[in-house]
Amino acid sequence: MENVKCAGCGVHIQTENKEALGYAPPSALLKETAICQRCFRLKHYNEIQDVSLTDEDYRTIVSSISKERALVVMIVDIFDFNGSWVPDIQKLVGNNPILLAGNKLDLLPKSVNPRKLELWMKKEAADRGVNPKKVHFISAAKGHGIEELADSIEQHRNGRDVYVVGCTNTGKSTFINRLLKEFGEGGSDYITTSYFPGTTLDMIEVPLDDQSALYDTPGIINPEQMAHFVSQNELKIITPKKEIKPAVFQLNEEQTLFFGGLARLDYIKGGRRSFVCHLSNEMTIHRTKLENANDLYERQLGDLLQPPGEKEGFPPLVKHEFLIKEGKTDVVFSGLGWVTVPEAGAKIAAYAPAGTGVSLRKSLI
Ligand code: GDP
Repeated sequence: MENVKCAGCGVHIQTENKEALGYAPPSALLKETAICQRCFRLKHYNEIQDVSLTDEDYRTIVSSISKERALVVMIVDIFDFNGSWVPDIQKLVGNNPILLAGNKLDLLPKSVNPRKLELWMKKEAADRGVNPKKVHFISAAKGHGIEELADSIEQHRNGRDVYVVGCTNTGKSTFINRLLKEFGEGGSDYITTSYFPGTTLDMIEVPLDDQSALYDTPGIINPEQMAHFVSQNELKIITPKKEIKPAVFQLNEEQTLFFGGLARLDYIKGGRRSFVCHLSNEMTIHRTKLENANDLYERQLGDLLQPPGEKEGFPPLVKHEFLIKEGKTDVVFSGLGWVTVPEAGAKIAAYAPAGTGVSLRKSLI
């Protein structure tokens, strides 16, 4: 019994405590592959139970990598770099080299310049103290770039074990499943993936050869993800499902765009100009006069301006002011997308829920 692991998330299965991690009814153990109740619910009802992996537990698990000689593959969501970064990752894994894989490439417009994308990722990583051995772009869901990454892993690991790390919701499980499908023996889809953060627990081991293995570490929950502020259905609206189509707005000074009720962009000064929004195609963008914006938000959050469908408990929007000094700049709203400002000289204010980030970068297009 002690050695039975859930085929979904890898946690040790127990049959005593219904509230605790890894619970499964005794009957589940009679099956060839046992899964815990949490994974069962997720799989059959698309329903998520709370995870009880604390930040400290996570650090204990991942910092054990620093004692090994290993290769680390870190998965980030290129749509939410901020919300998908594991804080202090280099410290946690010691001197071990890191391959950085930006996932969800399929969502970016084809016009994105791969070289600019790579430079941006490297800079973001360097700002956070990581110099990856190599940067890759993949779509775990569609299978793009997987073979190249698998080759690169083989090339960089020099016979060592491989640890896959990343925050929840970055597509880590989808990536592991993809690896298993393409390179594994069973080829079965047996790791849990879901829309919701927090669904992979404990380490899952995938043998690479007689001596070494690839380990899927649990995903840490990054509280800065937009995913934590919206319901499951709303998350489906704000998460792009396919390549995003840019939406162009010609704005006059003192006009405001609302992205549902989740974020806002005020165009303050700089003459009439265009703004190109790169967000989920299902996101509603509402334009109004700057002077009416506060009042509209106050009255319409949760109604006209949604998601969120529920005003209650939604964190206040925080204002970030910028002067766009260089031409073609992206204003990035973590977890939502970005707005390209094609020309320099615009004064803007970008608003996002407290805790989620807004940043500028050289346009990817
Ligand atoms: P984990 O929590 O990091 O293990 O993430 P999951 O594998 O459960 O994926 C989180 C969400 O991202 C799910 O809704 C996946 O369908 C989605 N996802 C994962 N990989 C990709 C990808 O390459 N492209 C897109 N568009 N979505 C992805």
